[in-house]
Amino acid sequence: MAVTNTHLPNATVLGYPRIGRRRELKRAVESFWAGRTTADELEATARDLRLATARRLVDLGLEAGTAAVPGSFSYYDQVLDAVALLGAVPDRFAGLTTDGGRLPLDAYFTVARGEGDNAPLEMTKWFDTNYHYLVPEIGPDTPIGYTDDRAVREFTELANPADGGQAVVTRPAFVGPVTFLLLSKPADGSPEGFRPLDRLDDVVAAYADLLRALAAAGAPWVQLDEPALVTDLLDVPFDEVADAVRRAYTALATELSPTADGDTPAQRPAILVTAPYGDLRSDAGDGLALLAGTDVEAVAIDLVRGAVPAGPVPGLENKTLVAGVIDGHNIWRADLDARLSTLEGLAAPGSGLGAGALAVGTSTSLLHVPHDVADEPRLGEDLKSWLAFADQKVGEVATLATGLAEGRAAVADRLAESTAAVRSRAAAPGVVVPEVRERTAALTPADGERAPYAERAAAQQARLNLPPLPTTTIGSFPQTSEIRSTRAAWVRGELSDADYTAAMRAEIASTVALQEELGLDVLVHGEPERNDMVQYFAEQLDGFATTVNGWVQSYGSRCVRPPILWGDVSRPAPLTVEWTAYAASLTDKPVKGMLTGPVTILAWSFVRDDLPLGDTADQVALALRDEVTDLEAAGIGVVQVDEPALRELLPLRRAAHPGYLDWSVRSFRLSTAGADTATQVHTHLCYSEFGQVIGAIDGLDADVTSVEAARSRMEIVPELADAGYGRGIGPGVYDIHSPRVPSVDEVTDLVELAAKSIDPRLVWVNPDCGLKTRAYAETKESLANLVTAARTVRATL
Ligand code: GLN
Ligand code: ZN
Repeated sequence: MAVTNTHLPNATVLGYPRIGRRRELKRAVESFWAGRTTADELEATARDLRLATARRLVDLGLEAGTAAVPGSFSYYDQVLDAVALLGAVPDRFAGLTTDGGRLPLDAYFTVARGEGDNAPLEMTKWFDTNYHYLVPEIGPDTPIGYTDDRAVREFTELANPADGGQAVVTRPAFVGPVTFLLLSKPADGSPEGFRPLDRLDDVVAAYADLLRALAAAGAPWVQLDEPALVTDLLDVPFDEVADAVRRAYTALATELSPTADGDTPAQRPAILVTAPYGDLRSDAGDGLALLAGTDVEAVAIDLVRGAVPAGPVPGLENKTLVAGVIDGHNIWRADLDARLSTLEGLAAPGSGLGAGALAVGTSTSLLHVPHDVADEPRLGEDLKSWLAFADQKVGEVATLATGLAEGRAAVADRLAESTAAVRSRAAAPGVVVPEVRERTAALTPADGERAPYAERAAAQQARLNLPPLPTTTIGSFPQTSEIRSTRAAWVRGELSDADYTAAMRAEIASTVALQEELGLDVLVHGEPERNDMVQYFAEQLDGFATTVNGWVQSYGSRCVRPPILWGDVSRPAPLTVEWTAYAASLTDKPVKGMLTGPVTILAWSFVRDDLPLGDTADQVALALRDEVTDLEAAGIGVVQVDEPALRELLPLRRAAHPGYLDWSVRSFRLSTAGADTATQVHTHLCYSEFGQVIGAIDGLDADVTSVEAARSRMEIVPELADAGYGRGIGPGVYDIHSPRVPSVDEVTDLVELAAKSIDPRLVWVNPDCGLKTRAYAETKESLANLVTAARTVRATL
């Protein structure tokens, strides 16, 4: 039976960044990998970090004694943690577990990173964020049990700290059992028709053991994250997901007692189920009603993406509703007045919602935002006053909770400050730039149209005179440590502009010479000047700001600093022309200009919340359109606009796809359609499974599209042809994700395979992606083989 008196404290967050304010965990983990420190030393650093984090959250306003502080630490990834918790290790790593099936720390990292011929778990995007998780591989015989007591130890160590200082009772957080299986893929060799969800009972039994162990350790609450409930993109119909949720939470919530009975201790902590990243309710089914119908004690819903439930939800009256009113996924300071009104509405007796109790929370874990605005010495004071990173968001949650409990007067000052910040942002120069708005308002569909492809193809061939099966690369060449340190020295002011330019030009010259020597047909400048394909543009465009310490975990120990897109976007000066034109001056071969597309620039930035994404995308697109014109004026006849993020921004609900694809395709076309008929527009997409975006790829109307294809054996070529795509296609023939050099025969096979499923005159020969993470030795050899293979097949046409 559910208990009705175990309320959560009235302020909480669903998770907190775990990499550390100064990326302490990153450094500790990498030094362990490099063999410079021991597992004990790494564990000690992690313990200090957890303790400091928990105490910081208390200082920021979360209660210490009531499970308000989430236990959301991870050495690498929360999904990998669930794999470790369950001992659900793929066969190829079975030798790494202990007799009890437990995965020791070094083996945990091996599963994440691979070893020799044993590939790591695949990595993919976590919902619609830029965080990547490791995909569990579950088969009928994968071991599944409660094998790892790490969470219990971490709970205990904070509840009874060894240093005798402030104790913090945390709420250990885990990927929920249903989401875990829905995100898993069938292990190799699983029989036809097997689905990971078929192992639900085993996973639930292991979670039941986990809950018993947490209860025995005295944990009052546990958090189980079930974001799979907010998407309909996973291939399991809602009815089956609903059935899985009911079975899982009957076993965990109904059948385990949360309260002590006489001499029998509690069998589990109270359970909070969270559903971040979107609305629980959709055409497919009502996930909120589903959770409300279980015997868990609390449900957290995302009220930033999702709507406030309009009426009573049966079952919710005896639960705590954690209202996720503070955005865990973006960096804007909240309008606290408006948020408090939402909460007051939810709490009003007449709301009809019937929430037994209301707690204030974040919409998602704060994993997706940096630590602290106060840590940004270079941002302007105005901009800073509009921002809330993780620490500021905890403060916002605490303020709202106080306002809700004690009335508005108790937090009047803070409401006024928030209102003032919202007003100052709306009125600040640069946020709305009339010329930019006028230009986007005047756009018509004709601005996205070019001449018919046949006409373009003829004009481009007349200009470029390329052989059949032309060879090219995706843009970047190896970023050697010399390149990186030259850039860093220039940023630190230790290298003059002139010396920096000379160094970059030397690099470009050697890259161009190498490409000529290799015999490539369309050359690139190599992108040595770019730290990152989005940041490079954000640093030069008006309307963006970049941070110093604004690191956000991308995967494992890798962090990124997404730029902040705060105002209307325009291009004060050309962005890339100087470097590209220099490269072109060194060769008679065509040089391809390299731009990052509007969708990708948005996807890898923190975007504004005061303008529809499509409008912002149009602004970025127009800046790029002007860049294309300037590249043409400098004599560049081929321009590539990369959109590796086109698929990852796809909304989590199918119903929202047409709207998204409409603006994303429009903005790409807007960025490229100003090009002359004789200018060849390329695009590059970093993936091989197009699924829902295959029609959109055609809609981009690029003259040449390069895609990842080496690992999937050119599968994508017939798929694109079937979908009606009839322009240039460059399926990657060299897998750049590994240092392995593909042989001439191997590449020849792939090229022949591609030329069989589409008109060979459309086929280009190129690697899967940019070469920046590769070393020169293997790059030279691989590209030489690629050129030889293209020539071999060319001779047979
Ligand atoms: N032009 C970029 C490069 O070669 C493309 C990178 C990407 O697709 N992610 O590095
Ligand atoms: Zn790529």
